[in-house]
Amino acid sequence: MSLMLYNTLSRQLEPLRPLEDGIVRLYTCGPTVYDTAHIGNFRTFMFEDLLKRYLTYSGFEVRHVMNITDVDDKTITRSQESGVPLTEFTADYTEDFRNDLDLLNIIEADHLPRATEYVPEMVAAVEQLVAKDHAYVTDEGSVFFAVASFPEYGRLARLDPDQLRGGSRVAADTYDKAEARDFALWKAHKPEDGAISWPSPWGPGRPGWHIECSIMSTLLLGETIDIHCGGVDNIFPHHENEIAQSRCLHDGPFVNTWLHSEHLIVDGKKMSKSLGNFYTLQDLLDKGLDPIAIRYTLLGTHYRQKLNFTEERVTASQSAINRLREVVRRLNAVPRDAQDQREHSMPDKRFKAALDDDLNISKALAVVFGWVGALFGYMDDRILGYGEARAALDTLEQYDKILGVIFIEQEVGSDIQALIEERETARSSSDWTRADQIRDDLLARGIILEDTPAGTIWKRK
Ligand code: AMP
Ligand code: ZN
Repeated sequence: MSLMLYNTLSRQLEPLRPLEDGIVRLYTCGPTVYDTAHIGNFRTFMFEDLLKRYLTYSGFEVRHVMNITDVDDKTITRSQESGVPLTEFTADYTEDFRNDLDLLNIIEADHLPRATEYVPEMVAAVEQLVAKDHAYVTDEGSVFFAVASFPEYGRLARLDPDQLRGGSRVAADTYDKAEARDFALWKAHKPEDGAISWPSPWGPGRPGWHIECSIMSTLLLGETIDIHCGGVDNIFPHHENEIAQSRCLHDGPFVNTWLHSEHLIVDGKKMSKSLGNFYTLQDLLDKGLDPIAIRYTLLGTHYRQKLNFTEERVTASQSAINRLREVVRRLNAVPRDAQDQREHSMPDKRFKAALDDDLNISKALAVVFGWVGALFGYMDDRILGYGEARAALDTLEQYDKILGVIFIEQEVGSDIQALIEERETARSSSDWTRADQIRDDLLARGIILEDTPAGTIWKRK
């Protein structure tokens, strides 16, 4: 079976057939860097990480671009409020974003283009749209896309064409655009924009958000690409508008497969900055949660289902990860002379079948845990041979190329590391009282110590 993905455009599962054999061109809408990203945003970025890791596991070469939106109303206003020039302001948040990706073990895109790097190319595209009568210039020097000029508008979001037309004409003095549904390709400079502007044939201004993605996708990946992703809130208007612009600029499709992840929610509501119901990654780390347990939580629910985020879920994820790491420790401890007993088969087929089915990660994890449970049983009964244990370890390593939660360097703070070492010294000098005291202290801080024949290991509670 080949990988089936749910294409938002057709509302159907479709086999992935890349334009070029063996290569997948992937564009994912990135963050607007006016503030720290919240873990709702990372739910979408995590789904994209799963997709990319699974494509790589399946043998594709993935060419991945994620844009950084570093100019819009919010970035301009916030940078002015904080008195930091826009470039520096957005560079700081971009750095924070990249650090968070790293902590969550999300593989960074091959390119992270900033919108402000491509303004001349965006201006050229807007000029073409004006020349082709798909866009018009207002008196103040803004440029709007004329939605009426693109009959396919609304196909992705399944908008009702009658509704779109009905009552959409607005008085010019209210909007300065011909129809309410028209959207800005270029925004004329306003006094409140301060020093932020670029030259254009229509006067100084800056690009609209939607044209940024159309241009960066085309320039870096080509006029037609395989997959474009975002959260479901991107379907309309952002992705609908991207399609309209790109289709009016070039012949042929813009994107073959559109994938959208459902929202991360809190108490039934979308996590968002505007509702104030959000956590940043740092907020959760400050509560003592492990970034990899957060990774597992964001990863573990199918991307087209809403994910209700709770701390209990993160705790459950930590236990699941501990079980996987425990099986690795036990497999590593199988002695060299343990005889292979049976034809021990790996669950590769079922694991792959689950992920081929529109990235059904919950099913894939159920396959892994069923198999891991069996491995524990064999090891308890001492009927797992050395060769079988090595093969199982190799398989877990392969699966972890997708999961990214088992074979990673774990770090604890230097104070905790010092306590672990102090306890080792206490134990070697038979100071059991001190050793136990340190063990209890660490437990109170969420660190469990286990003394194994190979030395003391630690894990999070
Ligand atoms: P933004 O920085 O607002 O442009 O958002 C970056 C990405 O995060 C977009 O793909 C959004 O669709 C996605 N996103 C925003 N809020 C959530 C949420 N609560 N759950 C999942 N994805 C989200
Ligand atoms: Zn975008």
